[in-house]
Amino acid sequence: MKLLLVVACALVDADNRVLIAQRPEGKQLAGLWEFPGGKLDPGERPEEALIRELAEELSIAVKAPCLAPLTFASHAYDDFHLLMPLYVCRKWEGFVAPTEGQAVKWVRARDLRQYDMPPADAPLVSPLIDLLG
Ligand code: C5P
Repeated sequence: MKLLLVVACALVDADNRVLIAQRPEGKQLAGLWEFPGGKLDPGERPEEALIRELAEELSIAVKAPCLAPLTFASHAYDDFHLLMPLYVCRKWEGFVAPTEGQAVKWVRARDLRQYDMPPADAPLVSPLIDLLG
């Protein structure tokens, strides 16, 4: 089975809330809420992909993604195995402005379970609650 590498980011604001984004119509898993991020380009390091994706999707410049992922999603979809590190980031420049028409929300970690997420993202919620309360 093909391995797909995707990076995801928990952006955490000053009130300890996490940003989630809704997958737009026309994409797989449309309507589900996910941690922003995306696929690695060939040869790209995960931290580089994270900085690029958040600039492209949300118009922000992440300066200091945490050094190591908090955890990893590992999920076998029908046609590929997704491996997805979740980084936590509290510092960025600019204001979050979605560029792809996607809805975004700032949510307390403990409230994340109220949102329907892709099966790869859902198991990332518990480690975030452990971290953020
Ligand atoms: O976002 P994109 O469609 O490029 O991601 C490729 C695939 O990776 C999605 O179709 C979805 O199955 C999976 N994915 C996910 N959770 C994310 C991002 C992507 O499960 N946060």
